Amino acid sequence: MRVSKEIINLVPYVPGKPIEETKRELGLETVYKLASNENPLGPSPLAMEFISKALHDLHRYPDPSCYELKKEWAEFYRVHPQWVAFGNGSNELIDLLIRIYCEPGESILTSQAAFVAYSICAQAARVGVIETPLTSDYKFSVEHLLSEIKQAETKKIRLLFIANPNNPTGTYLNKQELETVLAAAHEHENLLTVVDEAYVEFVRAQDYSHALPLQERFPRLCVLRTMSKVFGLAGLRLGALVAEPKIIDYVHRVRNPFNVNSLAQAAARGALKDAVYLKRVVENNAQGLDYFYKELKRLGLQYCPSEANFVFFDTGRDAQKVYNAWLHHGVIARPVKNYGFTRHLRLSVGTKDENERSMRTLEKVLEEIPESSS
Ligand SMILES: *Cc1c(COP(=O)(O)O)cnc(C)c1O
Repeated sequence: MRVSKEIINLVPYVPGKPIEETKRELGLETVYKLASNENPLGPSPLAMEFISKALHDLHRYPDPSCYELKKEWAEFYRVHPQWVAFGNGSNELIDLLIRIYCEPGESILTSQAAFVAYSICAQAARVGVIETPLTSDYKFSVEHLLSEIKQAETKKIRLLFIANPNNPTGTYLNKQELETVLAAAHEHENLLTVVDEAYVEFVRAQDYSHALPLQERFPRLCVLRTMSKVFGLAGLRLGALVAEPKIIDYVHRVRNPFNVNSLAQAAARGALKDAVYLKRVVENNAQGLDYFYKELKRLGLQYCPSEANFVFFDTGRDAQKVYNAWLHHGVIARPVKNYGFTRHLRLSVGTKDENERSMRTLEKVLEEIPESSS
């Protein structure tokens, strides 16, 4: 059977190593997974309460319009419900936007080391990927993005993806930088911009700007949010797109009718009401990041200040060796070789205990492995 070359060349998404697999393979009793930017505090108790009630209706198909959730979600974020569509994780919405707006032979634009889902979904749709180089401090390069945007027509660039803050680097574009890029993109009628704000609730930088208020000025701006990170519902798969109704309408035509299951809808409604939990999650994250910075400094390692729930740092060594040795100490970090980084690792913020355990063991690992220049 014939298969297109884009599919043959597709490098599959590599998820974080699962806890049970690590225990089994290495014969370890306790394993800490700080590899997938998951919420270390577990799901919100209110989300679980809502799920218990929804269990009685599992024989029914879910509400395909997510009516109640949409109403409450839109209220929470002060947007119009007609501007909202949900997906099976924001990953599905990325996939749908590419399928809707790009044809084979056309391209998406993003940065090197941007969240890998953009390029995987593009390749699967036989769509090209143009990646601008990062700045020396691992940020998206406004200068390079602007120069590509200028060529949007000739290069047939249909979608621009900006993860703000970005995964795996944790870096962000500030208000002025973001607006500069959005304004340039807005000049091109056939170019849509997607700002992916998966980590927005964790941001502490004063000069950061949410993208939602910018939609008034830039109507072709799409904003992605997820329930996977601060809301702690990664296992249920729920993401949201905020975009003008014309765009939302196309998403509804293309998506599967029951793409968001009933437990996800119920849990999300509970999680949105749980302000106490959200506050705890954000506080735990800030404390965890500050602790990581202090320890990484003490260990003499360079890191990117992070606006998300993980830290991206230079091990000063072959990262694969550090990853393996760390694994033997029961800590699962995330290799970022697939993004082109051979000395870096990404580590998610865990509970206080997980954070301390990970830094104590990292110190041992670094002693075991000599520094190297590549
Ligand atoms: C984790 C993450 C998401 C969330 O994906 P879901 O499919 O909603 O779980 C989206 N974008 C970025 C940049 C992420 O890191």
